[in-house]
Amino acid sequence: MKLSFHGADRGVTGSCHMLEAASKRILIDCGMYQGSRELDEDNADPFGFDPAAVDIVLLTHAHLDHCGRLPLMVKRGFTGEIISTGATAELARLVMVDSAHLQEEDARFEAKRSNNRQPRAPLYSVIDALNATAKFGRTAQYDVPIELAPGLKATFVNAGHILGSACVFVEYAANGGRSTVLFSGDIGKAVDPLLKGPAKAPRTDAVVMETTYGNRNHRPLDASIEEFYQAVSETFTRGGNVVVPSFAVERAQELLHIISDGIAGNRIPPSVQVYVDSPMAISVTEVMERNLGDLLPEVAQHIRDGRDPFHFDGLHLTRDHAASMALNEIEKGAIIMAGSGMCTGGRIRHHLRHNLSRASASIVFVGFAAVGTLARKIIDGANEVTIFGEHVPVRAQIHTINGFSAHADQRELLAWHRDTAAARTFLVHGEEATMRTFAGLLAGTQVEMPELGQAFELG
Ligand SMILES: [Zn+2]
Ligand SMILES: [Zn+2]
Repeated sequence: MKLSFHGADRGVTGSCHMLEAASKRILIDCGMYQGSRELDEDNADPFGFDPAAVDIVLLTHAHLDHCGRLPLMVKRGFTGEIISTGATAELARLVMVDSAHLQEEDARFEAKRSNNRQPRAPLYSVIDALNATAKFGRTAQYDVPIELAPGLKATFVNAGHILGSACVFVEYAANGGRSTVLFSGDIGKAVDPLLKGPAKAPRTDAVVMETTYGNRNHRPLDASIEEFYQAVSETFTRGGNVVVPSFAVERAQELLHIISDGIAGNRIPPSVQVYVDSPMAISVTEVMERNLGDLLPEVAQHIRDGRDPFHFDGLHLTRDHAASMALNEIEKGAIIMAGSGMCTGGRIRHHLRHNLSRASASIVFVGFAAVGTLARKIIDGANEVTIFGEHVPVRAQIHTINGFSAHADQRELLAWHRDTAAARTFLVHGEEATMRTFAGLLAGTQVEMPELGQAFELG
């Protein structure tokens, strides 16, 4: 087997790895680079392989940094099959179409501003995204091997990261020998308010592993929930709004669950008005309600009983634009959730423009923010930021609550790696310094930190 690296190499985003075995070219994820303008521009670069020559894509999960370049692959000639779990296929459809729509909007906006300069074309269109959707073939069930070619099979194992997420275990038997490689995808944390935790990693010869939080441990979830309730209560006492930039996939649902618990437990006043200002987040919630098997049994039971954490008094789901604009008039007592989580685009930028300069307001960050993003600048203590070309002073209280991460922390990553007993380890999906820290903690395995385009022979 030959393994080569085409994204998320010494960086967090753009996951894309290729495995060649049994005369098949198999891609594991084809995600988008995110975070800065330079990274954005990397998305249009050649893939480093011919998309038309790829037979199969195994998609670990529906986050944009894992599925975001699939429409571009199709646009550039990919005609093969995409295999994922059922929930991932449903979510990836939403994520890819949303991404295409945002790119078309950006391109229109730039064309308007650029006078006679050549405007940047969108990376792909909504049509390309729909064409990529049509490439989803077989549906993977957790722990049931799928044959990719004679002697070559892949098994999706629950990664506990977001709905439908998986690690992919590939086994290749030929000439009396057997070789295995495990792709971690993104690994979830052991305790999650909604999802079952990651399954035990299978033993493998080689592992390709994410290292997003390879340099630190999260606070326990209970402490993070407490911190969230505290931030809401202080903000409401000051007479402001709580603005939560949140990822539409998973984080928004997790927060709704925590807020509805908080209201039931008198930690959040029952008069609270909660706005989910994200058509994406609303659609994702619907997908979740159709895939109860992936949820913790008690959460699934609540939904079956109609005691739904996604529908409570005071909750408003705003799909349309006018309703979203109306939120700008609210000065206090609201929790407003909107995307994007890293504040690089989407409706959250409007809410930040209206609330960042209010000393009574709070901005509560509950997810990972890559270097260079607006979210990261605010988290790092900027006194002023630029939104829509306007200077906005930062007077609101800024909270960063790390325990909500959908990613395993250092301790959990090490435990996961120990279970693989892998002799070779390829670290990906992490900032370089983080990766080095994590590499220093691994023992009994040969560690590589591949560069873009690097290839290795396995087994
Ligand atoms: Zn992810
Ligand atoms: Zn990721």
